[in-house]
Amino acid sequence: MPDPLAPGELLALDRQHVWHPYGPMPGRQEPLIVASASGVRLRLAEPAHGADELIDGMSSWWSAVHGYNHPVLNAAVQEQLGRMSHVMFGGLTHEPAVRLAARLVEITPEGLEHVFLADSGSVSVEVAVKMCLQYWRSAGRPEKHRLMTWRGGYHGDTWQPMAVCDPDGGMHELWSGALPRQVFADAPPHDYDTDAVPAYSAHLREVVARHAHELAAVIVEPVVQGAGGMRFHDPVYLRVLREACDEHGVLLVLDEIATGFGRTGRLFAAEHAGITPDVMCLGKALTGGYLTMAATLCTARVADGISRGEVPVLAHGPTFMGNPLAAAVACTSIDLLLSQDWQMEVKRIESALRDGLADAASLPSVRDVRVLGAIGVVELDHEVDVAAATRAAVREGVWLRPFRNLIYTMPPYVTGDSDVARICTAVCAAARVG
Ligand SMILES: *Cc1c(COP(=O)(O)O)cnc(C)c1O
Repeated sequence: MPDPLAPGELLALDRQHVWHPYGPMPGRQEPLIVASASGVRLRLAEPAHGADELIDGMSSWWSAVHGYNHPVLNAAVQEQLGRMSHVMFGGLTHEPAVRLAARLVEITPEGLEHVFLADSGSVSVEVAVKMCLQYWRSAGRPEKHRLMTWRGGYHGDTWQPMAVCDPDGGMHELWSGALPRQVFADAPPHDYDTDAVPAYSAHLREVVARHAHELAAVIVEPVVQGAGGMRFHDPVYLRVLREACDEHGVLLVLDEIATGFGRTGRLFAAEHAGITPDVMCLGKALTGGYLTMAATLCTARVADGISRGEVPVLAHGPTFMGNPLAAAVACTSIDLLLSQDWQMEVKRIESALRDGLADAASLPSVRDVRVLGAIGVVELDHEVDVAAATRAAVREGVWLRPFRNLIYTMPPYVTGDSDVARICTAVCAAARVG
């Protein structure tokens, strides 16, 4: 092992050479150096604002649902590492990938039968789009190549996903003219506003009907729109979309990359609506936050349609497809989740977030406070000062990463009551200064 870098040296190199998410070059903000992580705590290489460890309020962007350095997940990786860390997937197969695919078919909504293992969420969305476009091409309908979504969504940062991200919040303007132009419905009404249901349902049906001749698929995040604005909507709209898609011959893709594996209180958010999509994307918590892997599942109808085409194959095959290490830890993470009363844990965190964030509603610049499953959101009436808000949370011993006008948390499911309470205190502190 090389000598460890002194913190000052590490930060200088980081600033000079390393891109961070959505960051400038050279870097402007000083990131915190994490030396190790265990349970729900991130240990810092040097203390920040009096804290040498932080309670993780982010699950590393929805993924680390079991916390860090988990003995069972560590053992799964180590065991697989002893056999092989990777082998190509063309012409070869292996137990971790096959087990994972079979497990995903078993636990996802009835009817999803075929699994494409991709290496990140964005790529799984690319694959989903390719499946849908190719389905119609194979059916002799190549003009059905556009996508419809609703505003306020987020589907990743590669090209096709970017084209269906919220056109106002994303980088659409920068790329106007370069991105494929997709069809946008209005954003779904907030929360469970039943008065809004008839009008918005009619709007969705109208947009699907008007564009059906050119639509390959509708793609949406079910129940929770994540990085596009952390908004929750009534699952009834998913049933409306399912019906409209069936009626007008359009495929339905659900992007469950953020919502999958229990975060909303159901194993998959599609279950809130009792529907099966034609294609479903999974990622983030799939490997318990250990390694990068995602999956695109589809129905037999979609796979058969592609197979009947002039080009009867799905022309996609990433180098690290089906990575055995990632697949092994994904299987173990799913088993670990399902072997416990995870629904009770998510409910416990949900009610602790409701209690702990209630006070934020009375702060002067807070527009809305909302909680669903193990997700808590405080929406401000102005853009967050990310540096100030992060600092305030760190002073409370908590790691948060606000964006736009949102201070939010989705803690690991193993977060204890007193730690959830501290996270809430930190969210309120951040909302006060941010
Ligand atoms: C994070 C996310 C993606 C992109 O996944 P990456 O692994 O970051 O490429 C896509 N869709 C949704 C809903 C997400 O939350």
